[in-house]
Amino acid sequence: MSDSINRRRFIRDTALGVAGLALAPRIARAQKRGRLKLEGPPQNIVILGGGLAGLAAGYELKQAGHTITILEARKQPGGRVRTLRNFSDGLYVEAGAQAFPQEHEFTLGYAVDFGLSLQPSLKFGLESVAHIRGSRFRIGAGGVAEVPFPLRASERQAGIFGLPSLYLGDFMNQVGNPRRANWPPEELRPLDEISLEQLLRDLGASDGAIDILAASQLGVLGFGLDSISALDGVVTEKIATTLVFYEIAGGNDLLPKAFKQRVKKAFKKKAIVQRIEQDETGVTVIYERKGVIERITADRVICTLPFPILKEIEVIPTFSEEKQRAIEEIKLTPITRTYMQFRTRVWEQDRLTGDGITDLSIQNTYSPTLIQGGRRGVLASYTGGQRALDLGDMSENERQQHVRREMGKLFGGLDSEYEMGMSQIWHKDKWAKGGFTYFEPGQITGLLPAAQHPEGRIHFAGEHTSLWHGWMNGALESGNRAAEEVNEAGSAEAIRVR
Ligand SMILES: Cc1cc2nc3c(=O)[nH]c(=O)nc-3n(C[C@H](O)[C@H](O)[C@H](O)COP(=O)(O)OP(=O)(O)OC[C@H]3O[C@@H](n4cnc5c(N)ncnc54)[C@H](O)[C@@H]3O)c2cc1C
Repeated sequence: MSDSINRRRFIRDTALGVAGLALAPRIARAQKRGRLKLEGPPQNIVILGGGLAGLAAGYELKQAGHTITILEARKQPGGRVRTLRNFSDGLYVEAGAQAFPQEHEFTLGYAVDFGLSLQPSLKFGLESVAHIRGSRFRIGAGGVAEVPFPLRASERQAGIFGLPSLYLGDFMNQVGNPRRANWPPEELRPLDEISLEQLLRDLGASDGAIDILAASQLGVLGFGLDSISALDGVVTEKIATTLVFYEIAGGNDLLPKAFKQRVKKAFKKKAIVQRIEQDETGVTVIYERKGVIERITADRVICTLPFPILKEIEVIPTFSEEKQRAIEEIKLTPITRTYMQFRTRVWEQDRLTGDGITDLSIQNTYSPTLIQGGRRGVLASYTGGQRALDLGDMSENERQQHVRREMGKLFGGLDSEYEMGMSQIWHKDKWAKGGFTYFEPGQITGLLPAAQHPEGRIHFAGEHTSLWHGWMNGALESGNRAAEEVNEAGSAEAIRVR
């Protein structure tokens, strides 16, 4: 789920944010990060994908004394954590992960372990803006806004940022630790049977409040509030409640680069996985590298490939029906981001951060260069679902013009200051095929356990196997979980492969 920066900022400012801190879920076994102890004889492990999930799994297993190889299709590590440095004056933007809250223990923990500098992603004294139902209005500190359409008295009192906790707060308090066995708690299970929109309506939210929530980052997930499980909405709100979010100074890609330095030659770039075969004695991965087909055999494999990619890879023998269903049915949100560089930060002159929530075709806006110095600045649109598909189908030129016109409804004076721009269309990225996972009704209880479950000698990680989906923390958490599984399984007896 993420950037999320608008969602992140939207969430971090909620009234419940501060109260929720004490209840923030602790990540079980987080203390094991960097301290996995070898169990049984060292194993030979091949990891498919060199994003954060694969890198964390590889790093932990290598530290423990196993031999690892990471096969990665791209030239660089990091997958959906990629910093784009194509802008003037040294400005950079994030193609994927933008920021994270301090309770994301894996992200924060690794950044600190590797000596990376963190910067809080906020600037005081600026406001956000909304454009909903044809009206533009400002959102002040704490979410105070003169909303120009009907809302219930309690909704007005909660303010824009207080709406999620007004309706979901009681459920958020029951989330606990999503890594605990038998999660979710009984009281939350029924939430997985309905959509988030249905839950909000059942709880009496007005049409106006639902439109505001749909315009916020929550609405970027999947294909809108009626496409995601209510349980997913509650967890999404719960796992990022603190006020301060952080970015890695110099670009978030410094995190995957730091992992890569530590796994060294085990990282094989431009290695495109094509087929996986396993039997009782081992797993063989067939991959293409520099036009040559190569094979590597391992005791175990950790597969972190996003499911839309894994779906197209030949697996012998085929996975169980449950796993196959999870691979087919768990989807990634289509995401289009359009970046535009301006000579001056005209929006800041109007005391705005660049954060915008809208029901326009661009959905959300933010400024990825908010905390970078200089006169120039970049504004970005951040769009999910059907609107992302529509924007993604335009030519770059058309998209830049369209997005600038729509952004003009939020911020004045853009046209004369515009210099250049570019886009990142995640659903058209050949090695991602989407932005981040969303869970439809029924999928958290019905498919997520199967998504995580090993198949013989093949283990699974990646944000799509974590409740911190859409976060770097989800990728890192799942990589640690899979590393622990593999390490523990090393001393186990023979494997049965169907
Ligand atoms: C638009 C967007 C905004 C986000 N915002 C935030 C945010 O603000 N904060 C935050 O914490 N997180 C954010 N995230 C989420 C975060 O980036 C992801 O959860 C995380 O990076 C996923 O890591 P992963 O290892 O699971 O998957 P990936 O990073 O996708 O790794 C999978 C790897 O497999 C490789 N691969 C694919 N096919 C093959 C093949 N056939 N052979 C070999 N290799 C292959 C890919 O190249 C990739 O490197 C955002 C993501 C996106 C897209």
